[in-house]
Amino acid sequence: MSAWGMNLKSPAIIAGPCSVESPAQLSAICTEMKLNNIKPDLFRAGVWKPRTRPGGFEGLGATALPWLEIVREELNVPITVEVGNTKHVEEALKAGIDVLWVGARTTVNPFSVQEIAEALRGVDIPVLVKNPMSPDLGLWVGAFERFNAVGIDRLAGIHRGFTDQHDKTYRNKPNWSIPIHLKREIPGIEVINDPSHITGKRDMILEVSQRALNFGLDGLMIETHHDPDNAWSDAAQQVTPTRLAEILKQLEFRETLWNENLDDQLSKFRVEVDQLDHQLMEILAERFKVIDKIGAHKRDQGLAVFQPDRWTSVMESRTKEGVAKNLSEKFMKELLFAIHEESVKRQEKQIKTQSTTNSLKV
Ligand code: PEP
Ligand code: MN
Repeated sequence: MSAWGMNLKSPAIIAGPCSVESPAQLSAICTEMKLNNIKPDLFRAGVWKPRTRPGGFEGLGATALPWLEIVREELNVPITVEVGNTKHVEEALKAGIDVLWVGARTTVNPFSVQEIAEALRGVDIPVLVKNPMSPDLGLWVGAFERFNAVGIDRLAGIHRGFTDQHDKTYRNKPNWSIPIHLKREIPGIEVINDPSHITGKRDMILEVSQRALNFGLDGLMIETHHDPDNAWSDAAQQVTPTRLAEILKQLEFRETLWNENLDDQLSKFRVEVDQLDHQLMEILAERFKVIDKIGAHKRDQGLAVFQPDRWTSVMESRTKEGVAKNLSEKFMKELLFAIHEESVKRQEKQIKTQSTTNSLKV
């Protein structure tokens, strides 16, 4: 699978309002962008808005598509809109939209993704795929596979966060490991971060954007409106083009982020980390050798693999020790769970193999 080949500079900036509201709104946004020397790599604007519950503003639909010509005239940049079904695809293509994007509420449904993909068979257009609402990497990868299967190979991901009822900080929790895993799963894929839908509030956009760049994501999609407070959708998270310019100025696009091979000090640290990792593997291998011996012993003595009291005391003492050494409690617990799970599996394997004492007895 090849990556999105729009020849965007890295990091790519996608900006524009959550929804198209009127020709005057588009003109006002473009004017303020020009005043601030902002020329996004791609201009975003929703005309079909998938609202979670009915009754909200659901977008102006195809009527608003011709108004996007204003953006082309004012800024001379490509335009992307969200499509959620075959009809949207037909209308967006008819209106000459440059790039399509698939929203989080669509990616979650393989039937809808397949329907959109089929409507694009034989069409040469880039598609941006937002992560699904749920933190499910497979669904996200599956969407790319469906588009790729109909011949779309200019693809990129948009990381907009995941529903989490318990989280109070974010509108959609970032779960940074998921976009990073996506980049591992589909080598070469570009992933754009969408701090607007992750945070849900404009005050946090700078902070999340910086984290995205630190994690090596390839760009930012930031909802931009000339009068955010009066926007017809997602008012709390949109920023003015003036604020967008400030955010972009404050972000650190450090050389080393993009050109890390030139950095000597970084290479030295990496050698150190490589050696430590090597020691870590040696120690883990040693630990599991002992675990195998314990497994064989439990088998011979007819003992159960899982000993709850021992497990509780290992968890408690090791977590405490780790926390005292400045490792987080959450990390310690996850690490110990992973080690324990592997230990149980290995001991089960020992139980299944014939015991030496038994075979001697036979
Ligand atoms: C949007 O980009 O305005 C939107 C509806 O996004 P999402 O699909 O990420 O909720
Ligand atoms: Mn929005």
